[in-house]
Amino acid sequence: MTNTINGIAASQGIAIAKAYHLVHPDLTIEKKEITDVEAEVSRLDHAIQESANELTAIKEHTLKELGPDKAAIFEAHLLVVNDPELIQPVKDKVKTENVNPEFALQEVADMFINMFENMDNEYMKERASDIRDVTKRILAHLLGVNIPNPSLVTEEVIIVAEDLTPSDTAQLNRQFVLGFTTDIGGRTSHSAIMARSMEIPAVVGTKSVTSDTKNGDILIIDGLDGNVIVNPTEEILAQYRNKQQAYKKQKEEWAKLKEEKTVSSDGHHVELAANIGTPKDVKGVLENGGEGVGLYRTEFLYMGRDQLPTEDEQFEAYKTVLENMGDKPVVVRTLDIGGDKELPYLHLPKEMNPFLGFRAIRLCLEEQDIFRTQLRALLRASVYGNLKIMFPMIATLDEFRQAKGILLEEKEKLVASGTKVSESIEIGMMVEIPSSAIIADQFAKEVDFFSIGTNDLIQYTMAADRMNEQVSYLYQPYHPAILRLVNMVIEAAHKEGKWAGMCGEMAGDPIAIPLLLGLGLDEFSMSATSILPARSQLKTLSKEEISKHKHTILSMSTTEEVEEFVREHFMK
Ligand code: PEP
Ligand code: MG
Repeated sequence: MTNTINGIAASQGIAIAKAYHLVHPDLTIEKKEITDVEAEVSRLDHAIQESANELTAIKEHTLKELGPDKAAIFEAHLLVVNDPELIQPVKDKVKTENVNPEFALQEVADMFINMFENMDNEYMKERASDIRDVTKRILAHLLGVNIPNPSLVTEEVIIVAEDLTPSDTAQLNRQFVLGFTTDIGGRTSHSAIMARSMEIPAVVGTKSVTSDTKNGDILIIDGLDGNVIVNPTEEILAQYRNKQQAYKKQKEEWAKLKEEKTVSSDGHHVELAANIGTPKDVKGVLENGGEGVGLYRTEFLYMGRDQLPTEDEQFEAYKTVLENMGDKPVVVRTLDIGGDKELPYLHLPKEMNPFLGFRAIRLCLEEQDIFRTQLRALLRASVYGNLKIMFPMIATLDEFRQAKGILLEEKEKLVASGTKVSESIEIGMMVEIPSSAIIADQFAKEVDFFSIGTNDLIQYTMAADRMNEQVSYLYQPYHPAILRLVNMVIEAAHKEGKWAGMCGEMAGDPIAIPLLLGLGLDEFSMSATSILPARSQLKTLSKEEISKHKHTILSMSTTEEVEEFVREHFMK
């Protein structure tokens, strides 16, 4: 029977394919006494062999699709699965204690995990997580349940998951994964952001899609309206194929604006830039007529691997982006790890409130080796294009001064050693913490530019976790409190002759665009796919006309009031 599940439209487009459940199986085990020891040992051998075969297939596939770095993780897993130091004690335990292999394996593995985790050596700590992963795989075989391997799918599917981490998302094979849908998450969770840059339709925050669908169900992901349709009738399918066609046509219309500048109806020029996560995304930026990169989220370079990227690896990535963008500006944000973006190999302690914790610039100022390596790579790459650098999560002037000081120190050292560094790198900051918006006038004297990160600015101003769909109603970009903060930042920048951009999702929101134009925002940075619709909209708007209403809008008291005003006056 056809069923419609509502969620949050996270990435535009319509996808139709079979559901592929990426749900982790229940691996709870019990201790059991066994009688036929030989049979149990051979069941264990079989599970180990199956796990090894599976890991070999995943390793080969990963090597081909994602390169040797990512494949190294599975190479390490293969060493563990074949390691007699782990396997022999498990067999001994089964034989001498007459316990089931599931129990014996868990006991032995826990002992090793404990031992490795308590070592000081980073390399050894990594081995603990390898053992944990391999143990799960063998247990799944013993229990006769499946560990999903989306990297191995060979037919077109829609991924259905409780949640996808950004690194799960990075590993999705664009050829076969036509769309995804999750129980949790919001429009600004990083898997949603990545879906937009990969141009994969997505609906997140459905609360129940994993329990309301089965593997193999036919799903329609409507990333325009935020619906998932389960097992549609022929009639509904035809309806959505039409909608898919209409969207394609609309995209072709927008594509005609690709080479144009972004100019409002009264001749005011703004810059429309794109947010990217990897050098591969540059292609989409250029295809969608981006006038620059307004946010390069460098943390994705650090994710989905088991050690920090070297300075040279980073240099290559930054150089590629800068070269491919030619003389167009590229704003690179320094490492913003934390919140929903984890780096397991840093072994940071679990926090109660990771979005309020030891993250981004806070971590970089403490772990200066990591920070300095990144800054050197950026400085060396600066001669290949039009680089601007900004720091994330700045809450105090002192943090900005320290970060800038370290950047200048590294620059001096490089220059002294004869390395060429661009002389015109602008140094700016993200405004995503209310404290820095409130004293933007102070910051404006010291920065070259601001980029307003509304995803976090809204979450911190409204005290609403951006990952939690229960409070997603509080993600209110047009709330007068947010508009006043945005206005303060833009005014502060202009007073000091600096420019103000925005790289949060709000910058590409059709209701917000007229407001931001009216407030004088200079640069709008968004998912590449939003650029052409935004350009088409901006052509119809008059900055001067909207500015006349600025005070009326800023004195409104609710989101609804603002939205209604925009719809009535600026969206006809
Ligand atoms: C933001 O907070 O608005 C932002 C652009 O950064 P991120 O989404 O990566 O936190
Ligand atoms: Mg942020």
